[in-house]
Amino acid sequence: MMNQFLHSNTAIVSIQKSTYDNLNIESLLKPIGGFKNYISKGERVLLKTNLLNATEPEKCIVTNPVVISAVAKSVLKVGGIPFIGDSPSGQFTKRRLKRVYKKSGLIKLSKQLGIELNYDTSSKKIDFPNGKRLQKIPIYNFVLNADKIISLPKIKTHSFMMMTLATKIMFGSIPGLTKAKYHSMFLRRKEFAEMLIDVLLVAKPNLIIMDGVVGMQGEGPSSGDPVELEVMLASENSVALDLAICKMLDIEPIGIPTLKEAKIRNLWPLQIDYPLLSPKDVKYTGFILLSSAGYLLTGKKTPDRFPCPNVKCIGCDQCVEVCSRKAIKIVDKKAKIDYSKCIKCYCCHEVYTYNAIDLETMI
Ligand code: SF4
Ligand code: SF4
Repeated sequence: MMNQFLHSNTAIVSIQKSTYDNLNIESLLKPIGGFKNYISKGERVLLKTNLLNATEPEKCIVTNPVVISAVAKSVLKVGGIPFIGDSPSGQFTKRRLKRVYKKSGLIKLSKQLGIELNYDTSSKKIDFPNGKRLQKIPIYNFVLNADKIISLPKIKTHSFMMMTLATKIMFGSIPGLTKAKYHSMFLRRKEFAEMLIDVLLVAKPNLIIMDGVVGMQGEGPSSGDPVELEVMLASENSVALDLAICKMLDIEPIGIPTLKEAKIRNLWPLQIDYPLLSPKDVKYTGFILLSSAGYLLTGKKTPDRFPCPNVKCIGCDQCVEVCSRKAIKIVDKKAKIDYSKCIKCYCCHEVYTYNAIDLETMI
């Protein structure tokens, strides 16, 4: 399962209009052979969701549990054993996982369907001699031990990588605070994207099902606004799927660092077939990108946006935990940032606790 390359001349991306009341995952999967094409009886299937932080699904920061539920039911139907896992921002502890699962509606879901939530926090280093940035990649055992991986990303903007889509979601295979460390090691977007593609090539999902019913626009991945796109997409090719979303939202794909890096590594398919709807059929006009996106797309220098704690801060300490540069201290029960140490990785912003960090341009 691991170490397969993504490159193929032709890829298929299945796209259909959907609402959370009417997902019809099985018709979405039909053109690519249905779930039975990917899952055999008795296989443990990781549903790798986007669980960025402990938030209610209505905020659109995490993959909607309705999508996870529909996919889990389909996996059960073909005899697979689904389980849910991801590594949220911050420390990867059982306590934190429980909190994230609870807020995002997954404890209820796991009880309803009788499926497991991952609490295994162990990991192993995997050799990847061809890696551009990482030749040894620490990957969580819950990812490595899965027989199959179905990734369930959500269409969202991203403060550092512009969009968080299928080519980025497997970053959640990397142990908790190592993710923050990588922000410190790979300061430039290009370097970070090179690392992300290394990770994707080692922890490659067998199937990707994108939650695009309600996405996030503006200042994602945690402080943007929900946007009703009413679409679901599926493919076995992460790059093809992200390229389809770029067409649908009228985004220049080369402006997304992971897609640019995928192109450099010759991972873009020569042809993408759309057996159901095409990106044109579901075109969404007016999707709001990050305020800094224009700079990324034109290749000009991104304006310096720094994390600024706002009045909602209660000094809970979680941003201190994720800051690899030790730039944050709690002073008088408020987060205080030493900007001489800050590398603008935005990990503290992603933690989202109390929505207490804004990104601001300093003049
Ligand atoms: S900024 Fe947010 S995470 Fe940091 S201390 Fe304040 S409330 Fe907690
Ligand atoms: S304070 Fe700066 S370096 Fe620390 S997590 Fe936030 S953005 Fe990253």
